[in-house]
Amino acid sequence: MDGFRLLMEFHIEDERQGPGGSAETKRAIKSAGLNKSEPLRIADIGCGTGSSTLVLAQELNAEIIAVDLFPEFLEVLESRAQKAGLSNITTNSASMDDLTFEPEALDVIWSEGAIYNIGFKNGISLWKRFLKPGGVLAVTEITWLTDDRPKEINDYWSSEYPEIATSAQKIKVLEQEGFKLLDYFPLPTRCWTENYYKPLQDRFASFLGKQGRSDKALQLIEMEKKEIELYEKFKDYYSYGFYIASKM
Ligand code: SAH
Repeated sequence: MDGFRLLMEFHIEDERQGPGGSAETKRAIKSAGLNKSEPLRIADIGCGTGSSTLVLAQELNAEIIAVDLFPEFLEVLESRAQKAGLSNITTNSASMDDLTFEPEALDVIWSEGAIYNIGFKNGISLWKRFLKPGGVLAVTEITWLTDDRPKEINDYWSSEYPEIATSAQKIKVLEQEGFKLLDYFPLPTRCWTENYYKPLQDRFASFLGKQGRSDKALQLIEMEKKEIELYEKFKDYYSYGFYIASKM
């Protein structure tokens, strides 16, 4: 099994596939000035099993296109939407760097914990054409919380994701790409621990059992353990930042 597929199987049983929270999604909706008063067309890119998609569908009067590379995630999303009685979501299995929306077709582009797959700057520059002028972009992206930090954590994240930067640097990228910042806030610790790492840790043993303790599965769990350990040790230095901006 290739690494990407194994990762999908590891994450499919979770409510979310990255750090985040419903309260934070709602806060970002508010920051974006979005409400039920007007019909909206929204793409949720890298939606996974729909943690943010379901909140958007509940909170807004929107037609939502939920996009993810893995049809398996989208199937889970569809059944969660059905259970919640939400009929305003359609799914699209596609790569986020190969989207086929019409130019200026969307009021909102939402993407939590996913743009890193193609890079923050690259993603924004590829996606902005699909937004109407004045349309909203709301993305989360891993962000340094301080200008300086211990070498151990600096080296780890700089090698995992070289584009990691401070919010000031990320906001500058947004501005260079033609966006006006509406709000920025870092995700609180609970979004990483209670909402994301804890449910994952609870499934380490059953996942390893299911995978017959294969070398690749053992390796994956070791990597996750290391990431969690580093988070516990260095959580004051980084988080995901929520960036909410409008297209000029
Ligand atoms: N937004 C969800 C999932 C975040 S995890 C949440 O917050 O819970 C990142 C997601 O991006 C995964 O669902 C993964 O399948 C998806 N993904 C990774 N590479 C992708 C690509 N090239 N195109 C579309 N989706 C991709």
